[in-house]
Amino acid sequence: MTDQNSPASHPQGESKHDQWLADAPSTLGRVFAPVAGYGVTISSIFRPTVTEQYPFVRPVLMPRYHGRHQLNRYDDGLERCIGCELCAWACPADAIYVEAASNAPGAQYSPGERYGRVYQINYLRCIFCGMCIEACPTRALTMTHEIDELVGPSRGGLIYEKQDLLAPVPQGGLDAPHPMVEGTEDGDYYRGAVTGVTQAQVDWVRAHRPEDPTLATAKPVAAPDLAKEAVH
Ligand code: SF4
Ligand code: SF4
Repeated sequence: MTDQNSPASHPQGESKHDQWLADAPSTLGRVFAPVAGYGVTISSIFRPTVTEQYPFVRPVLMPRYHGRHQLNRYDDGLERCIGCELCAWACPADAIYVEAASNAPGAQYSPGERYGRVYQINYLRCIFCGMCIEACPTRALTMTHEIDELVGPSRGGLIYEKQDLLAPVPQGGLDAPHPMVEGTEDGDYYRGAVTGVTQAQVDWVRAHRPEDPTLATAKPVAAPDLAKEAVH
């Protein structure tokens, strides 16, 4: 292989280094170089300031900004997470830890058989790539616009637990656990057939957790007519 910088590789016997020397600024140019640098600084003084004043002023975020995660609920308040761990397996930073448990009569946290009993995201590891939310089959996990809460006094404070990530109970819904809407299966929840809490669910929570604060705001709706939906 020929050395590209060797004199032999150039017709006039000049190397590239010789050409660069020829392009070097003159003595006068070198004298005024610092002044030119100040010129850039001075001209910038009169341009609009673009420095973000965070945390005093919240920055304008892009519509699809990936912020803190959220564990979502269905409209009746049941949790969407089924504890499948697909998010944890998809995470390239090994930032998610999930432990599933079985739903039981009287302790139904999500539609179907399983729910996420333990759910942790380690924000010291998370790189906000969003691969976990792509992997989630029930849209239980999404990312919010929240950026200003990801600080903590200790390493442990940046490991968010399920209660830190769980979305508030939807308007008119009931906190979990409570039975699924009568006559429905988990697939009906996935297909969006459940639009709110029913009177039977309200009665169940009233009987088992009369002190539950979400009872005061629960607004029962009619159970979905699944036979009619199947026809359509
Ligand atoms: S956003 Fe990326 S790094 Fe963070 S928990 Fe999800 S998959 Fe892991
Ligand atoms: S958040 Fe989604 S992917 Fe992760 S365990 Fe729950 S259901 Fe599965």
